Amino acid sequence: MFGSNFTLFRIFGFQVRANVTWLFLAILVTWSLASGFFPAFFPDLPPGTYWALGVAGMIGLFFSLLFHEFSHALVARAHGLPMGGITLFLFGGVAEMEMEPPNPKTEFWMAIAGPIASVVLGAVFYAVAAGMLTAGVPEHIAAVPNYLGLINLLLAAFNMLPGFPLDGGRVLRAALWWWRDNLRWATKVASRIGQGIGIALMALGALNAVGGNVVGGMWWVLIGLFLQGAASAGYQRLLQQEDLKGETVSRFMSRDPVTASGDITVRSFVDDYLYEYGHDLVPIVRDGRLVGCATIKDVKQVPREDWGTRRIAEVVDRCSDANTIRPDTPADAALQRMQEGQRGRLMVVEDGNRLAGVLTLKDLLRRLSLKSQLEPSG
Ligand SMILES: [Zn+2]
Repeated sequence: MFGSNFTLFRIFGFQVRANVTWLFLAILVTWSLASGFFPAFFPDLPPGTYWALGVAGMIGLFFSLLFHEFSHALVARAHGLPMGGITLFLFGGVAEMEMEPPNPKTEFWMAIAGPIASVVLGAVFYAVAAGMLTAGVPEHIAAVPNYLGLINLLLAAFNMLPGFPLDGGRVLRAALWWWRDNLRWATKVASRIGQGIGIALMALGALNAVGGNVVGGMWWVLIGLFLQGAASAGYQRLLQQEDLKGETVSRFMSRDPVTASGDITVRSFVDDYLYEYGHDLVPIVRDGRLVGCATIKDVKQVPREDWGTRRIAEVVDRCSDANTIRPDTPADAALQRMQEGQRGRLMVVEDGNRLAGVLTLKDLLRRLSLKSQLEPSG
């Protein structure tokens, strides 16, 4: 979503990744603790101490966010939902679900697990701080767990705002879903509230920025913007998945796609296929069987002076799970694969490597758009 992710480690079978933008959050938190928070409460400490306290606070925040996301991921897995892993990014963390919860009860427990975990961890940090003070540890050191106690409670409170896709919004959606047994309607209501909260955060942030708190204000504007976008995207995705439910790839593929023989030269492939049809992927077929698929990327790897002599079959991508799909694959899964893998075209392949057709993202989306115009969901 925000560019490069780095894998940090694996734990309980989950991959923990950090997005490059998390680095920005880590620096911002360390800096604001070292130059604002700790000097305000404990003046006259050496500068190195402030930075050490700032780094300790940042590491504590890192583990607090992980703890929160792990609670979501573990509850999800206990309910049999496949989980993709955990990623930390600019605005905190996210436990990546590979599919939406199948019923309101699962959604409720998955969503509420995070805030409960944060409240418990917050209480633990407060207890540690109190224990340190009783044991005679200097006040400025006990201030770190004290700060983390507060942060965890704030994390729980913010996440319980009742707008989708925040945890509170998921709890609300689960309740509405359970009440009326209508996921679509429940998602619509919870997403609208999520969008409203996003807009309110932006307005509050802008007021704050104008009032002099520029960095803090802009931060809230960004969070509001992100929440507003995520709420509306989450709803759109659900509508698309619902519309494709029960359909398979064979329903949407074009059955008589343009194919090329592997024996033609790269030059004639460019002139007679790429330029002629404007497709960015053309299946290469021999005796009705798929040999590979030729893309612009393959052509670009061949030096231009060799275009007249090299055969296209020598330079094409082999068929693999990345560029093929089976005709009986559910259409919503195909849509997700194409959107996540950023592929506009997949070759539809039957047993024995026979080419059954080509599925394009454009066709899928056009079908969805027709359906939403004829059957508006409000
Ligand atoms: Zn959460």
